[in-house]
Amino acid sequence: MSPGPPCPQVGGGGGRGHPHVPCAPQFILPHSRGSSHGQSRITRSAYPRVPYARMMPDSFHLWQRLEAEAGTSLYRRTGLVVLGPAGNPELEGCRRSLRAGEVLDATALAQRFPGLRLHAGEVAVWDGTGGVLFADRALRAVQDVFRRHGGTLRDGEKVLRVDPGTALTVTTTAGVYRAPRLIIAAGAWTGALVAPLGLHLPLQPLRIDVCYWREKEPRSPGTGRAGPCFMAMGLPRAPHGIYGLPALEYPGLVKVCYHHGSPADPEERDRVPLGAPHPDIALLSSFISSYLPGLEPRPAVVETCLYTNTPDGDFILDKHPKFGNIIIGAGFSGHGFKLAPVVGKLLCELSLGEEPSHSTAPFAITRFPGVLRAAL
Ligand SMILES: Cc1cc2nc3c(=O)[nH]c(=O)nc-3n(C[C@H](O)[C@H](O)[C@H](O)COP(=O)(O)OP(=O)(O)OC[C@H]3O[C@@H](n4cnc5c(N)ncnc54)[C@H](O)[C@@H]3O)c2cc1C
Repeated sequence: MSPGPPCPQVGGGGGRGHPHVPCAPQFILPHSRGSSHGQSRITRSAYPRVPYARMMPDSFHLWQRLEAEAGTSLYRRTGLVVLGPAGNPELEGCRRSLRAGEVLDATALAQRFPGLRLHAGEVAVWDGTGGVLFADRALRAVQDVFRRHGGTLRDGEKVLRVDPGTALTVTTTAGVYRAPRLIIAAGAWTGALVAPLGLHLPLQPLRIDVCYWREKEPRSPGTGRAGPCFMAMGLPRAPHGIYGLPALEYPGLVKVCYHHGSPADPEERDRVPLGAPHPDIALLSSFISSYLPGLEPRPAVVETCLYTNTPDGDFILDKHPKFGNIIIGAGFSGHGFKLAPVVGKLLCELSLGEEPSHSTAPFAITRFPGVLRAAL
């Protein structure tokens, strides 16, 4: 942890341990109104896009450091299979990112994981580093360590406005703060928070159905608690991909979700008309019948969560183009959790004017044309 002047953060669960740095999430912690709640998130080395694949070793290392510092276990290694049509560019990207990624055909996959099926022309790529991050436990750990390093976490305090300047002013429901720099990492609320700063980021919050499916035979090999994580890519009927995690939060229920959802306002997320169709659940049911026949094809539990997507699915990690002392981390597009430690490190480095440990060029705000409008 490097020392440095205070840099308050809006949203998120804690920064890089500066003494007396306030971090202000709007709801009382822990809460389930954003994107990071729940027990489980997938982590993996397999990544179709090179910038993320390059950051993953650092991320694994930083998660381990947090485990050591917090004195708790945050990860269960299960391995991960990436399923899809042979030759699919994303699948190939995953295989390349693993260097020696083992490719399994239908027979080999069925031998190793009897619960998972492949179909004609499909293969599976094995990533032995994949596994489950214990999400809620990880948030608690990072908040504890943040406090232990002198950070101040002010939950239940909503940021109402940010006034730029050499000394920034942050007005919240509880007070007014001044600081030389600020990190905004407000998830699905980021667009609304930065719009008055003249920044119109193309961020689309999505409401995601988080579905859990019951095993037909309890403790069946290869799907239940003992199964791997998986991702399915390049399937014509599920263009955004499907992912699954072994049973963890509910005994005998396997988490399988569509990597997409319905556009939503984070303030109105629960206003879904009664009887509204759930096309994503229908799509998942059909996938379950075909690829995971050991599960009941009707979800036993459905919860919700939020993605905040950018048009290209890549993160935003950058300075405000006009106000260089405002740093923004947003648009994690449904794959940000596993990289949170590296994202935190990069945001911190940007705020301190240090050379980022990884190139942030792919995450620049200016890759989107017309984002800067007349400010204030
Ligand atoms: C169902 C689901 C499954 C996922 N699976 C995976 C996975 O397997 N692997 C993976 O790597 N990623 C996964 N993700 C993505 C990952 O969880 C997100 O990318 C990540 O949690 C985003 O974190 P965030 O800090 O941007 O948003 P959040 O966690 O929502 O944090 C933003 C915080 O800012 C606060 N805030 C907003 N506005 C204000 C304000 N004005 N004042 C004060 N506080 C404010 C919010 O209340 C919130 O606490 C998944 C996401 C979902 C929804």
